[in-house]
Amino acid sequence: MDIATLNSLYDLFKKASSKPDWKSSLETLATELRPFVLFDNIAVYVTDQSTGALEVVYARALGRGKNAEADAAWGDSIAADVMAGGRAVIHSPPIKPQPNTDRLDRSYMLGLPLQAGTHIIGAAVFVRFGGPEFFEEHHQVAALAASWIANLFERRAWQETYRQLDEMQRRVRLQDDFLATISHELRTPLGFIKGYSTTLLRQDTSWDANTQREFLIIIEEEADRLALLIEDLLESARLQSNTLHLKFQPIRLDALIRDVVLRLKQRHPTLSVSLDFGAAPLIPGDNVHLTRVFDNLFSNALKYAPDSPIEIAIYANRESLHVAFHDHGPGIQPEHQAMIFERFYRVPGPHAASTGTGLGLYICKQIIASHRGKIWVDSAPGRGTTFHIELPLIAEM
Ligand code: ADP
Repeated sequence: MDIATLNSLYDLFKKASSKPDWKSSLETLATELRPFVLFDNIAVYVTDQSTGALEVVYARALGRGKNAEADAAWGDSIAADVMAGGRAVIHSPPIKPQPNTDRLDRSYMLGLPLQAGTHIIGAAVFVRFGGPEFFEEHHQVAALAASWIANLFERRAWQETYRQLDEMQRRVRLQDDFLATISHELRTPLGFIKGYSTTLLRQDTSWDANTQREFLIIIEEEADRLALLIEDLLESARLQSNTLHLKFQPIRLDALIRDVVLRLKQRHPTLSVSLDFGAAPLIPGDNVHLTRVFDNLFSNALKYAPDSPIEIAIYANRESLHVAFHDHGPGIQPEHQAMIFERFYRVPGPHAASTGTGLGLYICKQIIASHRGKIWVDSAPGRGTTFHIELPLIAEM
């Protein structure tokens, strides 16, 4: 190989390496490698880490026999030979062709190992239909390409490992934060309950009826908060262990939501909710758990969008019922939106000091998923937040 060829190859590898993902890197290499080593098709095989099977991850037809692109079966056997022998393999057709042999049936194949360190992670296979044979120089260029491809996949494997590590780290951090949050969340209402009941029980002080009632209301509210929190924890544990049992029955979601609103208005008389719907078609659902979903959405709206009016719309599509639950609060930054349905996830920031465990939306998502529905958020800072829920109608279950 002359120095000019080597320089051009170097430029090609550099160009292919600069592509944003491995597929476009390989695509660049495959399409621009032909001036250096002529081939009709190329296929890349990599051993799947979990199954141990050799799988074709890339196949491209560039020359004769372009129709063979989708089907990389032509390279399976030579790739297996490369893996078994751990070295380059050449398959050539019989020297004397039969008369009228299609040149697509006379394939010259070159299979090269993809070597990462001491082990072989796969094989790259080049084919020429009808020849000519692969000569020494072609072989050298193909071997350089194979070593570049091996590095590409090695890098991809590392990136995947780093990604998994990052993800594990993030989960452990969430879990740690959760433990700190939960102990605070359990202690605060208990502190109130203990404090006010001790005050009421003091022998040396007497309280007028109004004050007594005020204290008792606080005790009741805090006990309710504690009960909700414990229910959230149990629900989350049941969801984690797949032991959540739903009792499905035909449900009118509009009636269910109106009941939730009526109940909430007793506790929050200033709560403004506008309901934009009439009688909705029946859906199959679990009353208790769907109520829980809307309790959670209301509880979040009260916490994160205090004093904001809430608007709820329901409309039926052909196959599903769609609920849009909108508040006019501060909204959620886009980078957090995908994560808020994760267990323990809380958006960091000033409001993070408000009560919460990061379980609410996770529970909502799981409950809706077990109804074969979907929940998602649409929000922009300053534009409020809309939670959308889609649930299949009765006939669709
Ligand atoms: P928690 O309320 O216990 O923190 P959730 O799972 O219910 O947990 O909610 C996750 C996060 O989503 C909250 O910490 C909050 O930052 C954000 N969030 C939920 N609902 C709203 C809303 N209506 N407006 C703004 N942010 C919200």
